[in-house]
Amino acid sequence: MKVGLPMELLSFDWIRRLKEDIHALAPQVELCHVPAATSARRPVPLSEGDACFPFKKMVRTAMALLPQVDRLVVPRLVRLDGHLLCPNFRAFPDLVALNRDRLPGPARKIPIIDTLVDITDAGDEERVRLLLLRALLGPETAPPAAPFPRPQSAGHKAAALQDKLRGYDRTIALIGRAYMVGDAHLNMGIPAILASQGYGIVTPQDFDFSDLDRAAARDDYYAKTMYWRGARECLGAFRHICAEHEPAGIIYLLSFNCGVDALVRIELMSLHKKLANKIPMMVLVGDEHSQQEHVVTRLEAFLDVIDGITTS
Ligand code: SF4
Repeated sequence: MKVGLPMELLSFDWIRRLKEDIHALAPQVELCHVPAATSARRPVPLSEGDACFPFKKMVRTAMALLPQVDRLVVPRLVRLDGHLLCPNFRAFPDLVALNRDRLPGPARKIPIIDTLVDITDAGDEERVRLLLLRALLGPETAPPAAPFPRPQSAGHKAAALQDKLRGYDRTIALIGRAYMVGDAHLNMGIPAILASQGYGIVTPQDFDFSDLDRAAARDDYYAKTMYWRGARECLGAFRHICAEHEPAGIIYLLSFNCGVDALVRIELMSLHKKLANKIPMMVLVGDEHSQQEHVVTRLEAFLDVIDGITTS
């Protein structure tokens, strides 16, 4: 059986752990994350209007996977680690289903696994895990013998980060959503450009979410409780990286049309003023029309500013 699970969702620790679970319980299942190239024409997805680029890309990946698999897993991600995700993730399975119904041929009949994921504690995690596995593999699926592995310990992540930064004298904090920072298309090539200029890169994904959440809780925000998980990840990462890693510069990468980031951007600028105003900071807004030359020009100017500071 071929099962589609869009690559963008793998940026969440929980989904990556679920993938390991599927491998262990049903080795016969072939998981597909990136659609194979095809010349087949598809209707333009209904999400192409005002949505942010990461969301459009997610829907496009799901739609391209559909005709190539027997089932598609697009969980309804509502809450992880006790914090809400952007509402786009809640609507994701609905949009995929609406688009699937417009497809020609047998792809229209491919089942979509859209289990609701609302996780605050370990009990929720086990319950949702079993629900999803049963929806995918059948109602008789026995509960897995071992509890769901927890995320990597802070010790493991710290060692991995140390390895990643070995050989670099200077680092840049690249703050943004995991599905943007880790995607070569959505990150506009920024990590590669920085690395080519001799900078190590620290991102929120180099730390456990629980550490970032604690760091985020140390501030009061204009918007009062910042309950979005992605917002807490970025705000906590800003505080944590500035305190522990003395970055030479900070880049905040966000997506055009992102409502959550419109707010986080204001909070980050205020934190920057309060905690790290000697460190150059740049905000880069990307969408699918962003041109690589413009990104390179802006990064070069930003790195010139950093050079000017470090050599003066
Ligand atoms: S948080 Fe922003 S970038 Fe992410 S899916 Fe929601 S609107 Fe898009």
